[in-house]
Formats: sequence, C-alpha cells, structure tokens
Amino acid sequence: MAATIIDGKAIAARVRAEVAARAAGLRARGVAPGLAVVLVGDDPASAVYVRSKSKAAREAGVEVFDHKLPATTSQRELLDLVQRLNEDVAVDGILVQMPLPRHLDADAVVAAIRPDKDADGLHPENLGRLAQGKPRFVACTPKGCMRLLAEAGVTVAGARAVVLGRSMLVGKPMALLLANADATVTLCHSKTRELQGHVAAADIVIAAIGRPEMVAGSWIKPGAAVIDVGINRLADGRLVGDVAYAEAAARAGAITPVPGGVGPMTIAMLLDNTCDAAELRAARAQ
Ligand code: NDP
Repeated sequence: MAATIIDGKAIAARVRAEVAARAAGLRARGVAPGLAVVLVGDDPASAVYVRSKSKAAREAGVEVFDHKLPATTSQRELLDLVQRLNEDVAVDGILVQMPLPRHLDADAVVAAIRPDKDADGLHPENLGRLAQGKPRFVACTPKGCMRLLAEAGVTVAGARAVVLGRSMLVGKPMALLLANADATVTLCHSKTRELQGHVAAADIVIAAIGRPEMVAGSWIKPGAAVIDVGINRLADGRLVGDVAYAEAAARAGAITPVPGGVGPMTIAMLLDNTCDAAELRAARAQ
C-alpha cells in the first residue's frame, strides 16, 4: 500500500493560523508578540531564510525587528546588540541567523541570548531542560518533526525510532524529544556501523544527515513513518532529501516529501516559540 504523504505545507499553515489567533489574543491584552531577527554578513542563503521568516512572522501578526549587520561586525558589537535585545521589553524572541561569519563565536552568541527569549531553542539552558524532560523552548526543526508525527497519527510511545544525524540543531534534540515521548531511540552518525540495519529495524526514521537520497527505499521497514529533514540541491538544480523518496514511499506507512515536508514546519515552530515567549511575558505582567 502506498504511504500517506505528510503534507508539511498544509500542517505548517495550520500552525501559523494557530499562532495568528494567539498573537491576536495577546495584542488584545496589550502584549504584541515581537521577534528580533539578526543577520550578520551577506550570505545569500541566510538572507533568503531571514526574509521568509520575517514575512511569515508579520503575516501571523508578530512584530519583526530586523537587524542587518555588516560582515565586519565584531564579537563585542554582536554581543552588545544581543544584550540590548535581551533588555528590550518589546522583544519576546531573538533569532540570530546561522551560520555567522567565521571570526564570530556562534556558541558564545547563543549563550548570551536570554533563555526565555531563545526562540530557536538552542541555548544550553533550554537544551538542558529538554534533556531533563522539562522542555521550555525546543529547537524549531525537531519540534516541527514531532508535530508532523502527531498530525500523521504516528504512535511514538513504545516505537523503535532511529535518528540519522547528531547535530545540536536537529539530531540530538530530536533524539531527546522522541525519548521523552517514550520511543526507544537509536542515534546514528557518520561513525555508525551497519546503518542500514538500524534503519531497517525502525518504526520511525528521522533523516537529518545532508546526504542526497542516501537512505535507500529498500532499507525502510514496511509501514514505518519516515521524516526527511535533509535539504540537498543536486547539480541539475533539483531539491532532494536524505531519503530516496519514490522507493521509500512505496514501503513506508507515512512519509514527508522534500520540499514541502519539514521545511515549512521549521518557520512555523519559530513563530510558535515566539508566541510562547510572549505568553510568558503576558503572564509575568499580570
Ligand atoms: P550537520 O552537518 O550539522 O550534521 C549532519 C549529521 O549527519 C552529523 O551528525 C553527521 O555525523 C551525520 N552524517 C553525515 N554523513 C553521514 C553518513 N554517511 N551516515 C550517517 N550519518 C552521517 O547537519 P544539520 O543537522 O544541520 O542538517 C542536516 C540536514 O538537514 C541538512 O541537509 C540540512 O540542510 C537539513 N536541515 C533542514 C532543515 C529544515 O528546515 N528542513 C533545518 C535544518 C537542517 P557526525 O556527527 O559523525 O559528523
């Protein structure tokens, strides 16, 4: 039987509509949710990401404070800006677009963001809370993957889940979220032996490695749920995921396409986190 296609675009649109309703409610209470978006340098891909995040935020009724800094910005100048945003009551969420120019220390910048304004969920305190099973702000892409699983009706508790990739941005928080939701999790990476065997045993496969179509369809356990985080551009211009989609869709129970799967959820979850932060502010003000 052909897999259910998990339509990330449609689910993200629903999340954005939920955010818009929450933002309207907050505005009615005098708390306009605000997101500061910091872009350092001229990386064209980062500029595209920042534009789409800002546009989606404005459409959802989230105030956007854009800060475009030159590539020559020093660590001190960037940290000073983060400090000002930390203190600015109109700013609920702070997003510093990665990657930063190489002379800047990204870890130090993320650590300087107030944990309760960490819309990207990458601050060590928020990662620690996630590891404790008491999450507050969760990294946007893995949070989006969990929502996709839920919307697709996938049972996570008790399932065998395999996460391919162990980055701080995707793989590690993903593994923690699945473990917190009572899955039995295997976290694979470039040194993993017999990757295929791990994938073949899994009821849930999350692929976040950045290797075009590396996961063959024949590896997928029949009926498994497959969430493909990878975004890879081929020489002919096509965008593909980390999973060989057509073959995998013939065996999986449910699968996300690339594009139109995880990608739209990442932005939607940034807005969701920003609204969470604004709701914390509103609760504090009461
Ligand atoms: P990283 O490059 O930071 O991490 C890649 C991970 O994959 C590493 O843990 C690496 O292992 C592992 N890996 C690499 N090659 C192999 C292999 N042959 N077998 C097993 N594991 C391997 O990438 P990110 O986590 O940032 O992103 C992963 C992918 O997801 C990329 O395609 C990226 O574009 C995409 N992405 C998509 C998003 C979206 O919104 N849809 C958001 C973020 C990322 P090791 O640790 O040993 O090096």
